[in-house]
Amino acid sequence: MVLPNAVHMNKLFRASYRLAAIKAVLNAGTVFSAQKRIFHSKPQDFQHTDMKIRLLPALQDNYMYLLIDEDTKECAVVDPVEPDKVLSAVQEEGVKLTSVLTTHHHWDHAGGNKELLKKSPGLAVYGGDKRIDELNNEVNHGNEFKIGSLNVKCLFTPCHTKGHICYFVTGQSNEQPAVFTGDTLFVGGCGRFFEGNEDHMYKALVEILATLPKQTNQRQNNLPTIPSTIEEELTFNPFMRVG
Ligand SMILES: [Zn+2]
Repeated sequence: MVLPNAVHMNKLFRASYRLAAIKAVLNAGTVFSAQKRIFHSKPQDFQHTDMKIRLLPALQDNYMYLLIDEDTKECAVVDPVEPDKVLSAVQEEGVKLTSVLTTHHHWDHAGGNKELLKKSPGLAVYGGDKRIDELNNEVNHGNEFKIGSLNVKCLFTPCHTKGHICYFVTGQSNEQPAVFTGDTLFVGGCGRFFEGNEDHMYKALVEILATLPKQTNQRQNNLPTIPSTIEEELTFNPFMRVG
C-alpha cells in the first residue's frame, strides 16, 4: 500500500463536512445489526446463512475470494489470478462456478482470467474496463446481477484505474452484506492513484463506499490481513475519516 501525497490528503481533509453529514445520516437513521467485529491475526473466511466467502491466498500477498450462494451452491470468484487454486477450492466446496468478478485490469487481479476460461469455459466475466482479459459482461455503476440468490451491485470507483469496480453483495435474509473493494479501499488505507485524482478517490471512498451499510464486510485484495467493516473504516481509516 502506498499512501497518497500531502496534496491529496489536504483535499480530502478539506471536504470534511461532507463526511460528517454522511456519518450523521448513518448514525441517525439506519438500523443495522450491532454485531461486534474484532480484528484477527489471520485472514478469516466468512459465513452466514446466505453466503460464504472463502479466502484464497494468491501470489505473494494477494487474496482471491470464492463467493458462494448457500441456497443454490452457485459460486463466483473475485480476481482469480491463480486459476488452479480457484478450481481446487471450487471442487473442495462442491459448488458450481459460474462467474468471475474482476475489480480491475491489473495483472495481479485479472491476469488469471484467460487461463481460467480455458480450463473452465463459459464463465460470465464481469468488469468495468475493456482492458480486462476475457471480459464478456461489461458493467457500469449501479448495474446488478445474481449469483444464485445473492444480489451483486456494481459500484464504479475509478481512481486506482479508470475502470475500477467494487462489488456489493447482499443475500435474501438481509444479514451482513459484503463488498469487494479491489485496490480502492484497504484496511486503514486506499489504493494508489494511477489513473485518477483525489476528487475521484474522495467520491469513491466517501460518497460511495462510506454510504454502504456500516456493518458491510469489506474485502480488499492486497493486504495479508483480515476483513474489516465499513463502520471500522469510518472509525480509523484516515481516508474515510475525513471528518
Ligand atoms: Zn491494481
